[in-house]
Amino acid sequence: MELFKEIAQECQNAQARLVAVSKTKPISSIESLYAKGQRIFGENKVQELCQKQVVLPSDIEWHMIGHLQSNKVKYIAPFVDLIHAVDSIKLLKEINKQARNNQRIIHVLLQIKIASEESKYGINPNEFSAFIEAYEALDLSHVSIVGLMGMATFTEDKDQIRKEFQLLQEIFEEVKRSSFMDKPAFKELSMGMSGDYKIALEEGSTMIRIGSLLFGHRTY
Ligand SMILES: *Cc1c(COP(=O)(O)O)cnc(C)c1O
Repeated sequence: MELFKEIAQECQNAQARLVAVSKTKPISSIESLYAKGQRIFGENKVQELCQKQVVLPSDIEWHMIGHLQSNKVKYIAPFVDLIHAVDSIKLLKEINKQARNNQRIIHVLLQIKIASEESKYGINPNEFSAFIEAYEALDLSHVSIVGLMGMATFTEDKDQIRKEFQLLQEIFEEVKRSSFMDKPAFKELSMGMSGDYKIALEEGSTMIRIGSLLFGHRTY
């Protein structure tokens, strides 16, 4: 079976959604996957996302999956469907402001740092409750936190990857149980990429982000 169909089927079986990560890939590659029925596409650069969004069908759901600078939120605020990697209060405030300007509520995921690698991005698990407290105090009415996102360490060690996904899943469950997030909107767990999505689906992912397996390797 064709790889796209296979992955789409695996997602369906796990009741997860497939985000096709089209960064660096041309419009034509997106169009051919669209023709096969794919509707969710993810990009990690604001400029590229905007350029693609204007020329492609309007029923595509666009996800911003990469690190997002506050000063660029305004460009995607009119149309973005989900922002995956929010890790600062400053960014949340800016998203709220731009969402209000566009009279929308923008859905976001909080990125949690689960990898052992030194990474600049993501909220540290032990600073998470403080983050939530700071967020609650602001009472932002135009952002909706609909779940969590994380990236496992880039390694061959499958046990380590599984442990990191399990950690994220535990934090996710903990948040769901806590009073502040006690609402049905909080239900997404974005984890799993080309190299580790099968493990992610086994560990409760609701959204996998697949690039190279669908589009081939990227050349920058
Ligand atoms: C590029 C990227 C992906 C997809 O990576 P692949 O290994 O090509 O599947 C997923 N998530 C994020 C945040 C990315 O930047």
